[in-house]
Amino acid sequence: MNYTQRQKNLMHALSEKKLDAIMVTHRANILYLCGFSGSAGVLVARGAGWVLYTDGRYTEQARQQAQGVRVTISKGSPLVAAGAHLAKAAPGAAVAIEADHLSVAARRVLAGSLSKRSRIREVTGLVERLRMVKEPEEIKRIGAAVRAGAALLDRALATIAPGVAETTVAAEIEYAARRAGVQGMSFDTIVAAGPRSALPHGLASGQPIPRQGFVVLDFGVILADYCSDMTRTVHVGHPKPAMRAAYQAVLEAQLAAISAVRAGAQAGNVDRAARQSLRRTKLARFFTHSTGHGVGLEIHEPPRLGRGGTEVLQAGMVITVEPGVYIPGEGGVRIEDMLLVTERGADVLTPAPKEMILL
Ligand code: ZN
Ligand code: ZN
Repeated sequence: MNYTQRQKNLMHALSEKKLDAIMVTHRANILYLCGFSGSAGVLVARGAGWVLYTDGRYTEQARQQAQGVRVTISKGSPLVAAGAHLAKAAPGAAVAIEADHLSVAARRVLAGSLSKRSRIREVTGLVERLRMVKEPEEIKRIGAAVRAGAALLDRALATIAPGVAETTVAAEIEYAARRAGVQGMSFDTIVAAGPRSALPHGLASGQPIPRQGFVVLDFGVILADYCSDMTRTVHVGHPKPAMRAAYQAVLEAQLAAISAVRAGAQAGNVDRAARQSLRRTKLARFFTHSTGHGVGLEIHEPPRLGRGGTEVLQAGMVITVEPGVYIPGEGGVRIEDMLLVTERGADVLTPAPKEMILL
């Protein structure tokens, strides 16, 4: 991991915005910038040197992990210590805070510890934007997470049967994941069967799988800090012709969206490709979410691939493509792969079949 380059990139982003310092409080951003993975920390980044404030639980871990920063263990709140440090070292500075990741109460505490002359500036997505294009080592780790995630599909398929609770299927997936040595799941496993498959975020419930209908499986793992994310939809029992058609339509939309991915394309174009494909079948109105998102240290990170998205895709970004249709009372289908954006197109990272699986 090239922490030196990452830290340089952040300093550049700060100077572009005429900011003297930033207090990074979001765990994934701290991890990205200096390698520290603890749950409590404030990273103060400024030209005169970077300091990581954390508490006594992380003394050893911070020493082992943190790169290119001075580590300070504070007795009280790391945020107060960081504010007091800036009040002394850089009074009157324009200090950025991560508006998406600092509570109102924490901001008040910070304002009390900073110098009266300093100016707090809210920024959003500043570090997240630096994280969009992945380094070779990150791509390697993501690939390993994607493979570990995809290997769980067989376990799910072996468990799915009429009468089995959705939570049982989720438990089998998660147990197999743990046994395979992952750090954890990248989000709560989605197993949504029958009419519940029409819920785009149908977390596994105690409901039994019905005799006939779709089962949406959406799950991912965290391996060496990086997330995976995939969705497959299988059908239990004999599918009605309309359901078969819905599956085919989503598959075609997903392939159309994948074809639209390449460096230089706008994120919105990928989304549009999926919607245009679905429009041929009158199912477009049942596609109620965006087409994809970036994945890395977090399960959802920029870029977002949604309607009208103007973000330009770059080689080295890792994204999902996951159109779906959700017909209330009937069922839903979603197919999701992870992709590496390349100059000429995309490498589909997820190694799993996409033809409709009948169980
Ligand atoms: Zn997913
Ligand atoms: Zn996703």
